[in-house]
Amino acid sequence: MPELPEVEVSRMGIAPHLEGQQIKAVVVREPRLRWPIPEQVTQLEGALIHQVERRAKYLILHTDKGFLILHLGMSGALRVVASDSLVVKHDHFELQLTNGQCLRLNDPRRFGCVLFSAQHPGVEHPLLRALGPEPLTEAFTASYLHQQAQGKTQAIKTFLMDNHVVVGVGNIYANEALFKAGIHPKRAAGKVSLARYQRLVPIIKETLSAAIAQGGTTLQDFTQADGQPGYFKQHLNVYGRGGRPCMVCKTELTEIRLGQRSTVYCKQCQR
Ligand SMILES: [Zn+2]
Repeated sequence: MPELPEVEVSRMGIAPHLEGQQIKAVVVREPRLRWPIPEQVTQLEGALIHQVERRAKYLILHTDKGFLILHLGMSGALRVVASDSLVVKHDHFELQLTNGQCLRLNDPRRFGCVLFSAQHPGVEHPLLRALGPEPLTEAFTASYLHQQAQGKTQAIKTFLMDNHVVVGVGNIYANEALFKAGIHPKRAAGKVSLARYQRLVPIIKETLSAAIAQGGTTLQDFTQADGQPGYFKQHLNVYGRGGRPCMVCKTELTEIRLGQRSTVYCKQCQR
């Protein structure tokens, strides 16, 4: 599943090809995504694209005729290719540009979405208005997180993955950051001290930034017609390594389900 770093890398990959361009035609080949693609997307024909923004895992195309909201769901991928290039299976949606290129969405599992908003969706759109701060901004601090956690008995890992608390800390990154911070994933969020949040927050930022930086090396893939763009191998300490030795102390890593998500930790290093 594309996580925040992959979505940010997608944004970086497509933005230079879209910003300043004009939309010639909107093509919907399969409207049945997570929600049906609304008729209003055709209002974007003739529009000028000003900016490609990311908010949480949504991409928001700003145009002079409204906003297009894109989400990659479980399996979505975006490419910029020539409009006359071969359409393949699961190419459900595209924006054709007047320069002969197009932005094409391929999504085999169709959990992604394409929506239209006349106003900037960040303030009033039901999908976006209740989201917590972006993890890589100054709004996301240890004192903010500590304050949000007050009185919460919820496991810290589930707390970190709650989009109302902070966006974009997916399962892989929650596992990895808690390992690096030495915090047990089942510890109650309200029982984690400010000092430990002060250790955790920079680790979350570094973990996400490193993944984005690594993904940046795959940017050329966004204009290739084949292959999955933007997904990249990462160095992982715990995620996917249950039963194998801890990289630090060699203790066998424990794997449990927490909030239905695979959770791997070292019972020696994480308290
Ligand atoms: Zn260990």
